Amino acid sequence: MKYDDNNIFAKILREEIPCKKVFENEYALAFHDINPQAKLHILVIPKGKYISFADFSKNGSKDEIEGFFKVVGKVAEDQNLVEGGYRLLANHGVNAGQEVPHFHIHIFGGQQLGPMISKN
Ligand code: 5GP
Repeated sequence: MKYDDNNIFAKILREEIPCKKVFENEYALAFHDINPQAKLHILVIPKGKYISFADFSKNGSKDEIEGFFKVVGKVAEDQNLVEGGYRLLANHGVNAGQEVPHFHIHIFGGQQLGPMISKN
């Protein structure tokens, strides 16, 4: 599968559509999810063109992977989520219902988050 330059997160990275930015550096951009599933719901995306976690973990450079995950940790810390707890989620592919084909990690927090996986 080829990376789709027209996916919504690629457009956000190119600033063609706006986002509520939380943090940005050379490796990653963090912004609020447009349809939050928790009191706090932030997405962190790498700057590089990676479709999913499988693609990023296999093809990302050591610097990109380290830089990206440092941002995930920093955002959680900056949002004061460390003490109370938070959840990270990455959907890969069809079974997980990945909607946007640019790798992203969801950060959920600010409330009790319930069971890990829906029973439905
Ligand atoms: P996925 O299901 O691919 O893991 O998650 C995609 C997420 O992107 C969803 O939670 C959805 O609400 C969010 N999303 C989709 N389009 C936009 C957008 O244009 N802006 C923002 N900020 N989030 C978006």
